[in-house]
Amino acid sequence: MIPLIETEDLTKHYQIGPHIVKALNGVSVSVDPGEFIAVMGPSGSGKTTFMNLLGCLDVPTSGRYRLEGRDVSGLDSDELAEVRSGKIGFVFQSFNLLPRISALANIELPLAYSRVSREDRREFAVEALREVGLEDRMDHRPVQLSGGQQQRVAIARALVGAPSLIFADEPTGALDTQTGIEIMGVLADLNAKGITIVLVTHEKDVADHARRVLHFRDGLVVSDEHPDPPASIPKAGHGAAVDEGIIA
Ligand code: ADP
Ligand code: MG
Repeated sequence: MIPLIETEDLTKHYQIGPHIVKALNGVSVSVDPGEFIAVMGPSGSGKTTFMNLLGCLDVPTSGRYRLEGRDVSGLDSDELAEVRSGKIGFVFQSFNLLPRISALANIELPLAYSRVSREDRREFAVEALREVGLEDRMDHRPVQLSGGQQQRVAIARALVGAPSLIFADEPTGALDTQTGIEIMGVLADLNAKGITIVLVTHEKDVADHARRVLHFRDGLVVSDEHPDPPASIPKAGHGAAVDEGIIA
Protein backbone atom coordinates (compact mmCIF):
# COMPACT_ATOMS: atom_id res chain seq x y z
CA MET A 1 0.00 0.00 0.00
CA ILE A 2 1.28 3.48 -0.84
CA PRO A 3 1.29 5.63 2.31
CA LEU A 4 -1.21 8.48 2.20
CA ILE A 5 1.41 10.77 3.72
CA GLU A 6 5.16 10.29 3.65
CA THR A 7 7.60 12.93 4.84
CA GLU A 8 11.34 12.67 4.71
CA ASP A 9 13.49 14.93 6.83
CA LEU A 10 11.01 17.79 6.56
CA THR A 11 12.27 21.16 7.80
CA LYS A 12 10.69 24.59 7.99
CA HIS A 13 12.78 27.62 8.91
CA TYR A 14 11.34 31.12 9.06
CA GLN A 15 13.50 34.16 8.51
CA ILE A 16 12.46 36.99 10.84
CA GLY A 17 14.73 39.96 10.17
CA PRO A 18 18.25 38.75 10.97
CA HIS A 19 16.94 35.71 12.89
CA ILE A 20 16.06 32.25 11.68
CA VAL A 21 13.32 30.44 13.55
CA LYS A 22 13.73 26.69 13.16
CA ALA A 23 10.12 25.56 13.47
CA LEU A 24 10.68 22.04 12.09
CA ASN A 25 14.03 20.31 12.17
CA GLY A 26 13.73 17.09 10.19
CA VAL A 27 10.50 15.15 10.51
CA SER A 28 10.07 11.79 8.81
CA VAL A 29 6.68 10.13 9.22
CA SER A 30 4.49 7.85 7.21
CA VAL A 31 0.70 7.75 7.52
CA ASP A 32 -1.54 5.09 6.03
CA PRO A 33 -5.04 5.77 4.72
CA GLY A 34 -7.63 5.55 7.49
CA GLU A 35 -5.37 6.42 10.41
CA PHE A 36 -6.48 8.66 13.28
CA ILE A 37 -3.46 10.49 14.65
CA ALA A 38 -3.10 12.90 17.54
CA VAL A 39 -0.21 15.38 17.48
CA MET A 40 0.87 16.56 20.92
CA GLY A 41 3.70 18.64 22.34
CA PRO A 42 4.41 21.95 24.05
CA SER A 43 3.48 25.29 22.57
CA GLY A 44 6.01 26.31 19.94
CA SER A 45 7.16 22.75 19.24
CA GLY A 46 6.13 22.91 15.57
CA LYS A 47 2.73 21.21 15.58
CA THR A 48 0.88 23.83 13.55
CA THR A 49 3.80 24.25 11.17
CA PHE A 50 3.77 20.49 10.59
CA MET A 51 0.00 20.47 9.96
CA ASN A 52 0.27 23.40 7.55
CA LEU A 53 2.89 21.54 5.54
CA LEU A 54 0.92 18.28 5.52
CA GLY A 55 -2.23 20.21 4.58
CA CYS A 56 -0.47 21.77 1.58
CA LEU A 57 -0.96 25.27 2.97
CA ASP A 58 2.79 25.82 2.90
CA VAL A 59 5.95 24.23 1.53
CA PRO A 60 8.99 22.99 3.46
CA THR A 61 12.37 24.69 3.56
CA SER A 62 13.95 21.31 2.82
CA GLY A 63 12.98 17.67 2.78
CA ARG A 64 10.31 15.78 0.90
CA TYR A 65 6.59 15.44 1.25
CA ARG A 66 4.75 12.85 -0.78
CA LEU A 67 0.96 12.86 -0.69
CA GLU A 68 -0.55 9.68 -2.18
CA GLY A 69 2.86 9.05 -3.69
CA ARG A 70 3.10 12.46 -5.38
CA ASP A 71 5.94 14.77 -4.37
CA VAL A 72 4.22 18.02 -3.41
CA SER A 73 7.18 19.67 -1.64
CA GLY A 74 8.05 22.05 -4.46
CA LEU A 75 4.61 23.13 -5.70
CA ASP A 76 3.56 26.78 -6.07
CA SER A 77 0.49 28.16 -4.32
CA ASP A 78 -1.89 27.51 -7.23
CA GLU A 79 -0.72 23.94 -7.50
CA LEU A 80 -1.07 23.49 -3.73
CA ALA A 81 -4.63 24.84 -3.87
CA GLU A 82 -5.39 22.34 -6.60
CA VAL A 83 -4.01 19.48 -4.47
CA ARG A 84 -6.05 20.61 -1.45
CA SER A 85 -9.37 20.87 -3.22
CA GLY A 86 -11.36 17.69 -3.01
CA LYS A 87 -8.75 15.99 -0.88
CA ILE A 88 -8.10 17.96 2.30
CA GLY A 89 -10.36 19.62 4.87
CA PHE A 90 -9.36 21.82 7.82
CA VAL A 91 -10.88 22.42 11.23
CA PHE A 92 -9.54 25.12 13.55
CA GLN A 93 -9.74 25.90 17.26
CA SER A 94 -11.60 29.16 16.65
CA PHE A 95 -14.04 27.72 14.04
CA ASN A 96 -13.22 30.50 11.51
CA LEU A 97 -16.80 30.88 10.30
CA LEU A 98 -17.97 34.03 8.54
CA PRO A 99 -20.31 35.71 11.04
CA ARG A 100 -22.79 37.43 8.72
CA ILE A 101 -23.91 34.46 6.68
CA SER A 102 -25.86 31.34 7.56
CA ALA A 103 -24.41 28.00 8.55
CA LEU A 104 -25.40 26.65 5.15
CA ALA A 105 -23.73 29.53 3.28
CA ASN A 106 -20.54 29.00 5.31
CA ILE A 107 -20.48 25.35 4.31
CA GLU A 108 -21.08 26.16 0.63
CA LEU A 109 -18.13 28.57 0.54
CA PRO A 110 -15.38 26.05 -0.29
CA LEU A 111 -17.36 25.11 -3.40
CA ALA A 112 -17.86 28.72 -4.52
CA TYR A 113 -15.07 28.63 -7.07
CA SER A 114 -15.56 25.06 -8.17
CA ARG A 115 -17.58 24.01 -11.17
CA VAL A 116 -20.31 22.64 -8.94
CA SER A 117 -23.72 24.11 -9.83
CA ARG A 118 -25.61 26.27 -7.34
CA GLU A 119 -28.17 23.51 -6.74
CA ASP A 120 -25.50 20.89 -6.14
CA ARG A 121 -23.60 23.22 -3.81
CA ARG A 122 -26.68 23.54 -1.70
CA GLU A 123 -27.37 19.83 -1.77
CA PHE A 124 -23.80 18.95 -0.77
CA ALA A 125 -23.87 21.53 2.03
CA VAL A 126 -27.16 20.17 3.40
CA GLU A 127 -25.73 16.66 3.23
CA ALA A 128 -22.61 17.77 5.13
CA LEU A 129 -24.76 19.45 7.80
CA ARG A 130 -26.75 16.25 8.12
CA GLU A 131 -23.52 14.30 8.67
CA VAL A 132 -22.73 16.45 11.70
CA GLY A 133 -26.32 16.33 12.97
CA LEU A 134 -27.20 19.98 12.44
CA GLU A 135 -29.56 20.06 9.48
CA ASP A 136 -32.17 21.82 11.62
CA ARG A 137 -29.84 24.81 12.09
CA MET A 138 -28.96 25.55 8.49
CA ASP A 139 -30.39 29.07 8.45
CA HIS A 140 -28.77 30.12 11.72
CA ARG A 141 -25.84 32.51 11.68
CA PRO A 142 -22.79 31.54 13.74
CA VAL A 143 -23.70 33.89 16.63
CA GLN A 144 -27.00 32.05 16.92
CA LEU A 145 -25.17 28.78 17.53
CA SER A 146 -23.30 27.37 20.54
CA GLY A 147 -19.55 26.79 20.34
CA GLY A 148 -20.06 23.07 19.78
CA GLN A 149 -22.61 23.75 17.03
CA GLN A 150 -20.23 26.22 15.37
CA GLN A 151 -17.51 23.61 15.39
CA ARG A 152 -19.93 21.13 13.81
CA VAL A 153 -20.61 23.67 11.07
CA ALA A 154 -16.86 24.06 10.60
CA ILE A 155 -16.51 20.29 10.32
CA ALA A 156 -19.32 20.24 7.77
CA ARG A 157 -17.47 22.94 5.82
CA ALA A 158 -14.38 20.71 5.89
CA LEU A 159 -16.49 17.79 4.64
CA VAL A 160 -18.27 19.47 1.76
CA GLY A 161 -15.46 18.88 -0.71
CA ALA A 162 -15.53 15.14 0.15
CA PRO A 163 -11.96 15.07 1.53
CA SER A 164 -10.03 11.89 2.24
CA LEU A 165 -7.99 13.73 4.87
CA ILE A 166 -8.97 16.15 7.66
CA PHE A 167 -6.51 18.24 9.65
CA ALA A 168 -7.86 19.62 12.91
CA ASP A 169 -5.69 22.05 14.89
CA GLU A 170 -6.89 21.95 18.53
CA PRO A 171 -10.54 21.52 17.50
CA THR A 172 -11.71 21.19 21.11
CA GLY A 173 -9.43 23.92 22.51
CA ALA A 174 -12.21 26.52 22.74
CA LEU A 175 -14.89 24.14 24.01
CA ASP A 176 -15.95 22.87 27.43
CA THR A 177 -15.10 19.25 28.27
CA GLN A 178 -18.51 17.81 27.45
CA THR A 179 -18.77 19.59 24.11
CA GLY A 180 -15.21 18.58 23.31
CA ILE A 181 -16.18 14.94 23.83
CA GLU A 182 -19.10 15.38 21.41
CA ILE A 183 -16.86 16.94 18.76
CA MET A 184 -14.39 14.07 19.17
CA GLY A 185 -17.33 11.72 18.62
CA VAL A 186 -18.11 13.48 15.33
CA LEU A 187 -14.47 13.19 14.20
CA ALA A 188 -14.29 9.56 15.31
CA ASP A 189 -17.42 8.75 13.26
CA LEU A 190 -15.84 10.36 10.19
CA ASN A 191 -12.70 8.30 10.77
CA ALA A 192 -14.85 5.17 11.04
CA LYS A 193 -16.22 6.07 7.58
CA GLY A 194 -12.67 6.02 6.24
CA ILE A 195 -11.50 9.64 6.47
CA THR A 196 -7.93 9.94 7.72
CA ILE A 197 -7.70 12.39 10.62
CA VAL A 198 -4.70 14.21 12.02
CA LEU A 199 -5.47 16.40 15.00
CA VAL A 200 -3.43 18.60 17.29
CA THR A 201 -4.39 18.60 20.93
CA HIS A 202 -3.02 19.50 24.36
CA GLU A 203 -5.47 17.21 26.09
CA LYS A 204 -4.70 13.62 26.94
CA ASP A 205 -8.44 12.75 26.91
CA VAL A 206 -8.72 13.99 23.36
CA ALA A 207 -5.59 12.16 22.25
CA ASP A 208 -7.06 8.95 23.70
CA HIS A 209 -9.51 8.88 20.79
CA ALA A 210 -6.64 8.54 18.35
CA ARG A 211 -4.96 5.28 17.48
CA ARG A 212 -1.53 6.82 17.17
CA VAL A 213 0.12 9.71 18.99
CA LEU A 214 3.04 11.78 17.69
CA HIS A 215 4.84 13.88 20.31
CA PHE A 216 6.68 16.97 19.11
CA ARG A 217 9.49 18.81 20.85
CA ASP A 218 11.73 21.51 19.39
CA GLY A 219 10.56 20.83 15.86
CA LEU A 220 11.15 17.09 16.05
CA VAL A 221 9.00 14.02 16.56
CA VAL A 222 10.30 12.61 19.84
CA SER A 223 7.87 9.72 20.10
CA ASP A 224 5.48 7.89 17.80
CA GLU A 225 3.20 5.60 19.78
CA HIS A 226 0.34 3.29 18.94
CA PRO A 227 -1.33 2.99 22.33
CA ASP A 228 -4.06 0.40 22.80
CA PRO A 229 -7.31 2.28 23.06
CA PRO A 230 -8.90 2.10 26.52
CA ALA A 231 -11.71 -0.44 26.78
CA SER A 232 -14.30 2.36 26.84
CA ILE A 233 -13.27 3.64 23.42
CA PRO A 234 -14.19 1.14 20.71
CA LYS A 235 -12.39 1.36 17.37
CA ALA A 236 -15.64 1.86 15.48
CA GLY A 237 -19.22 2.78 16.35
CA HIS A 238 -18.05 5.65 18.49
CA GLY A 239 -21.47 6.56 19.83
CA ALA A 240 -20.75 4.29 22.78
CA ALA A 241 -17.52 6.14 23.61
CA VAL A 242 -19.37 9.44 23.67
CA ASP A 243 -22.11 8.04 25.90
CA GLU A 244 -19.58 6.68 28.37
CA GLY A 245 -17.76 9.97 28.28
CA ILE A 246 -20.93 11.72 29.39
CA ILE A 247 -21.26 9.42 32.39
CA ALA A 248 -17.57 9.65 33.32
P1 ADP B 1 2.92 24.93 17.90
O1 ADP B 1 1.75 24.81 16.98
O2 ADP B 1 3.47 23.63 18.35
O3 ADP B 1 2.62 25.81 19.07
P2 ADP B 1 4.14 26.39 15.72
O4 ADP B 1 4.29 25.43 14.61
O5 ADP B 1 3.02 27.35 15.62
O6 ADP B 1 4.12 25.62 17.11
O7 ADP B 1 5.48 27.24 15.85
C1 ADP B 1 6.76 26.65 15.91
C2 ADP B 1 7.81 27.77 15.98
O8 ADP B 1 7.82 28.45 14.74
C3 ADP B 1 7.52 28.81 17.04
O9 ADP B 1 8.75 29.23 17.57
C4 ADP B 1 6.84 29.91 16.27
O10 ADP B 1 7.05 31.15 16.87
C5 ADP B 1 7.51 29.81 14.92
N1 ADP B 1 6.63 30.22 13.81
C6 ADP B 1 5.48 29.62 13.44
N2 ADP B 1 4.94 30.23 12.37
C7 ADP B 1 5.79 31.23 12.04
C8 ADP B 1 5.80 32.23 11.03
N3 ADP B 1 4.83 32.31 10.10
N4 ADP B 1 6.83 33.10 11.00
C9 ADP B 1 7.82 33.02 11.92
N5 ADP B 1 7.87 32.10 12.90
C10 ADP B 1 6.87 31.22 12.97
MG1 MG C 1 -0.21 25.51 17.15
